[in-house]
Amino acid sequence: TVVSRLSEPHSGPVPFSVEFFPPKDAPAEERLWRAVRIFERLRPAFVSLTYGAGGGTRDRTVRIAGELARETTLTTVAHLTAVNHSLDELRAMVGSYADQGITNVLALRGDPPGNPMGEWVKHPEGVAYAEELVRLVGELGDFQVGVASFPEGHHRSPTLDEDTRFLLGKLRAGAEYSITQMFFDVEDYFRLRDRVVAADPEQGAKPIIPGIMPITSLASVRRMLELSGSKLPADVDARLTAAAGNDEEANREAIRAVGIDLATEMSERLIAEGAPCLHFCSLNFARATTEVLDRLGMNVLVP
Ligand code: FAD
Repeated sequence: TVVSRLSEPHSGPVPFSVEFFPPKDAPAEERLWRAVRIFERLRPAFVSLTYGAGGGTRDRTVRIAGELARETTLTTVAHLTAVNHSLDELRAMVGSYADQGITNVLALRGDPPGNPMGEWVKHPEGVAYAEELVRLVGELGDFQVGVASFPEGHHRSPTLDEDTRFLLGKLRAGAEYSITQMFFDVEDYFRLRDRVVAADPEQGAKPIIPGIMPITSLASVRRMLELSGSKLPADVDARLTAAAGNDEEANREAIRAVGIDLATEMSERLIAEGAPCLHFCSLNFARATTEVLDRLGMNVLVP
């Protein structure tokens, strides 16, 4: 399971994990598998595979999660969202995960398809919140369930205290750990951890795994931030903007170098302050993440 994997031998002072998304065509799938094989030799604690808003990507998530579980040595976490699913469909999805040998599920509500900031409409026979999905998955078998957490607060949460209350609801419903939204100010992560521990020490003992995105392109990180409602701290923004100069395209390598520096510095702080694992959003590439691992002395083959 994810939680037990966190205390098994790993290549650095803390374990790391990697997030992938389901590729959309054959060349993208080849690229994913190249990355998977590179990471596999470094023995991540687990890998996770996201779940898309549309039908086609959902089938791919099930298929590829199954292949990761069966054809690699990796502990595989399959994401699942409640978007546009009835309870029966959610049960069937969880059943297909079980059929593929997947027992680790990240239970998410998901965002409205098309516009993540738009109005969330619950499926008439579905669930309204991830907390209900955690219970549903837990009732269906021997699954280990994780959930999302938000260092800056979820964009729909009225206050950070409410946001903490919702996270605690998911943990009390049976989630064993959470993985955070990517963030660029480590203090936000430490404050989230402090809030959870202060509100409920028992739930606060469950791992909060920080999500790290090594920035390789300014345009794509800005788009991702827009979709998630997170922000770049002013000093981070200033370093990236300085590297971009007045020609983002010509200065790609400089931006990338700053992105790797930032992810490395964040990781060092997180390790020093006792984060249980570093979860890298790989975008299905190995290079940026392995560069950060290299800088951390964690790019080491584990026998
Ligand atoms: P919830 O926990 O249900 O919270 C959603 C909002 O509902 C909260 O902000 C709060 O305002 C409100 N809320 C929650 N509980 C209550 C309550 N009891 N009463 C009143 N209001 C409440 N999206 C995908 O589509 N596919 C993925 O694979 C995916 N992977 C992700 C992985 C990680 C690590 C993270 C952090 C996010 C991921 N997302 C993914 C995005 C996620 O689906 C969105 O952020 C979504 O808006 C929130 O999901 P949640 O599970 O946190 O929802």
